[in-house]
Amino acid sequence: MQPRCRLESVRIEENKRLAPFTTLGIGGPARWFVAAQSESDIAEAARWAHDRSLSLFVLGGGSNLLVSDAGFNGLVLHIALKGIQLRKSSAEVEGQIYEAAAGENWDQFVQRAVEDNCAGIECLAGIPGTVGGTPVQNVGAYGQEVSDTITQVRAFDLDQNVFTDFSAAECGFAYRRSRFNTTDRNRYVVTKVQYKLSPSANPTLEYADLQRAFPPGSNPSLKDVAETVRRIRQSKGMLLVEGDPDCRSAGSFFKNPIVTAGQAAAVATVAGADPPRYPAGLDHSGSVKLSAAWLIEKAGFAKGYSLGRASISTKHTLALVNRGGATAAEVLALADKIRSAVAARFSVELEMEPVMPGIDR
Ligand SMILES: Cc1cc2nc3c(=O)[nH]c(=O)nc-3n(C[C@H](O)[C@H](O)[C@H](O)COP(=O)(O)OP(=O)(O)OC[C@H]3O[C@@H](n4cnc5c(N)ncnc54)[C@H](O)[C@@H]3O)c2cc1C
Repeated sequence: MQPRCRLESVRIEENKRLAPFTTLGIGGPARWFVAAQSESDIAEAARWAHDRSLSLFVLGGGSNLLVSDAGFNGLVLHIALKGIQLRKSSAEVEGQIYEAAAGENWDQFVQRAVEDNCAGIECLAGIPGTVGGTPVQNVGAYGQEVSDTITQVRAFDLDQNVFTDFSAAECGFAYRRSRFNTTDRNRYVVTKVQYKLSPSANPTLEYADLQRAFPPGSNPSLKDVAETVRRIRQSKGMLLVEGDPDCRSAGSFFKNPIVTAGQAAAVATVAGADPPRYPAGLDHSGSVKLSAAWLIEKAGFAKGYSLGRASISTKHTLALVNRGGATAAEVLALADKIRSAVAARFSVELEMEPVMPGIDR
């Protein structure tokens, strides 16, 4: 698509297809599209959108998105800021501070930290997307969450037109949540994230799959753990691998529901089996986190189940996959069918994880 116009430093494109920018490979065009390479590009593009009363959507690596078939009728701001800096730790802050630009590829950043023998994000290897996307939903897997290591997030405030630095406490992190996807949803554009990693520290081996792979006494390196996480992820279709049709997804489509102990007991009675339970986190004391995958299977959906050109991954019950040419409407029809069945059988509402630009939900 030819550039429609050019601001001082930013090229603005028109009617740019969004499907190629998403891991699901679904989505109509962005009415306007800018790839921001710098903080000043972001400020300039935001002003341009504001002057025209356009809605603005921030696009990272497109790995947690279901974009409408009609596209997005506003400005899509694609974050392409690059650079990773090592910052000196202060007397109060032990460890190595990495400051990564929001457009850096997350998995490559993990690789770099592991090669530097710095612990803290090795279990988050193989997660697609950008650095800037990680604080938004407090990305987590295999016993780690980015909130364990983030010390600061720098962001552009679209309401006030200023850059702000948030401490970790100010980000409001919880399970797959932060201020950026709850109270301040669509208000901030993350430009840089600081992570405090621990040089020469041991890897985290809290997750059952990793404990099985590394029994006590095996002393794996950070690299061993990151490679094992990637291998496990690949076996579940949760690693982007060229030619694997099961990874044409947005990762987990449903969050693990947090329920009361009473609800969990009711689920066990209906299912005639005890559901797997996980700790719900400090901010949910007295509640338990159930496995959404288990609920979906017990509600009658097997891996590989399909509806039109959308299906459940053949390797992972939580991932909804574009089998080729699927539309957002087809993926949503499948998601709705699953959610209705789980609600009808267990009275548990499954929350969808992907963000849905252009879709009114
Ligand atoms: C195969 C696969 C496996 C996955 N596994 C996991 C997993 O194990 N754990 C997990 O937590 N997630 C997982 N995900 C989901 C996804 O990878 C993460 O949510 C990722 O952090 C999204 O980053 P992104 O850059 O792709 O964001 P996008 O998908 O582009 O955007 C997601 C949301 O973040 C916002 N956003 C993105 N960048 C910025 C920014 N710079 N500033 C402000 N807002 C921004 C967008 O506006 C949107 O609201 C997986 C996805 C796939 C496809």
